[in-house]
Amino acid sequence: LFCNILHLHRSYYHHGRSKRILLSRLFQPMNLREDRTIGVGRSSDITCKSQRLMLQAGLIQPANTGCFHYLPYTVRAMEKLVRVIDKEMQSIGGQKVNMPSLTSASLWKTSERWDLLGKELFRLKDRHDMEYCLSPTHEEAVTELIAMQGNLSYRQLPLMLYQVTRKFRDEPKPRFGLLRGREFYMKDMYTFDVSEGAAMETYNLVSQAYSCIFGQLGLQFVKVQADTGSIGGKMSHEFQLPADIGEDRLLMCSDCHFAANVEAMTDTETNCPQCHGKLKESKGIEVGHTFYLGTKYSYILGASYSNTENKPVVTEMGCFGLGVTRILAAAIEVLSTEDEIRWPSLLAPYQVCIIPPKKGSKEELSLGLSETLYDTLIDAVPQLHGEVLLDDRSHLTIGKRLKDASRLGYPYVVIAGKRVLENPPVFEVRCQNNGKTVFLTQEGVLDLLR
Ligand code: ATP
Ligand code: MG
Ligand code: MG
Ligand code: MG
Repeated sequence: LFCNILHLHRSYYHHGRSKRILLSRLFQPMNLREDRTIGVGRSSDITCKSQRLMLQAGLIQPANTGCFHYLPYTVRAMEKLVRVIDKEMQSIGGQKVNMPSLTSASLWKTSERWDLLGKELFRLKDRHDMEYCLSPTHEEAVTELIAMQGNLSYRQLPLMLYQVTRKFRDEPKPRFGLLRGREFYMKDMYTFDVSEGAAMETYNLVSQAYSCIFGQLGLQFVKVQADTGSIGGKMSHEFQLPADIGEDRLLMCSDCHFAANVEAMTDTETNCPQCHGKLKESKGIEVGHTFYLGTKYSYILGASYSNTENKPVVTEMGCFGLGVTRILAAAIEVLSTEDEIRWPSLLAPYQVCIIPPKKGSKEELSLGLSETLYDTLIDAVPQLHGEVLLDDRSHLTIGKRLKDASRLGYPYVVIAGKRVLENPPVFEVRCQNNGKTVFLTQEGVLDLLR
């Protein structure tokens, strides 16, 4: 019995709070020699800054054309982004579902998109020769799901279903890393309402939630009138991040609030259609897209509800996409320098990186200090649990490890430099998102990060 207690005690101690995340143990194949020149777009070419930085820093590895392995840092950032999105979608009434990626050709033939989508669809057959595709989007699937319920009541509307799943599109020009993949993550929400008025309310609610998401990420965006493309419908807006490598051309009026994607301009004359003011052109990365669909899908697939008089009425739909992996790469694209990744604070894979002294240095006498700081920090600041890294590669100089930390863009880098020999010991803290450096005691570091 005594042995068992001892064993229990020891395993608690080992797996409990004293367990630290060691940088040397992370799977992060750095690729610093990767050529810095930006190529033109063959499948192996580096075509933009975010792709190069993510490759160099060990965040992604190319698998095949337009498909990537997302490595641990990327997955952590993505999970954080999905948490932000989930919170906003659920606060307006969204319910999370997960629909199959394999959808049958017959469904797409009903909406006539089997032919319309042409080569962009990844098509395949099962062993019975039945045709399917790997879904590029889910309007048909979700509308059929609702239609199957048959007797939806007006009391159940508005109904807002969303998912975060992989989408498959055989893009004519997959490039720019995660910005334009052939397999990528999208958050797509589909909404069902009793009337056009109610659907417009829902449309505005989701649009506000999108603004709120980009606001929290600290990403400047423009909302522009957009073309409804192959999705169809009556009205549509895009959320665009201004960037030189953006593939969309945007027109913005200098006199009023008018802003549109050129794709949505019916008139080729370029003056503002609202005030006839001068239009200025710029480029953007489309990170979100909202559509008011009306009854386009609900009518053909029979998604209806029974109204107060118990009569069946076709539902009014909306659909709302966010490019999850594209947002990640676009954030890196617009926030980073040529050599150093910068993240929206909320998405940084780890919040803090602690760099202890080099082996054999005078400061090494203080070796335990970094570990004590680590343990105290995650004990005192619960939200930092799982967010603090110890760069235990102490055979490397502090300068070398600091360079890596700057490249990775942790919001805070805490260095046990020369001044840890002072009494009390002083740490150097680099706040990478505002470029400031401060010198603080352990108490001071806790206060800063609390
Ligand atoms: P694009 O014009 O860039 O091809 P889209 O208009 O075809 O995008 P939507 O059908 O509106 O894309 O899809 C919703 C969102 O999914 C887009 O706003 C974008 O953020 C994201 N997305 C679309 N295609 C890709 C892709 N190939 N790789 C990564 N994200 C994508
Ligand atoms: Mg497209
Ligand atoms: Mg587009
Ligand atoms: Mg779009």
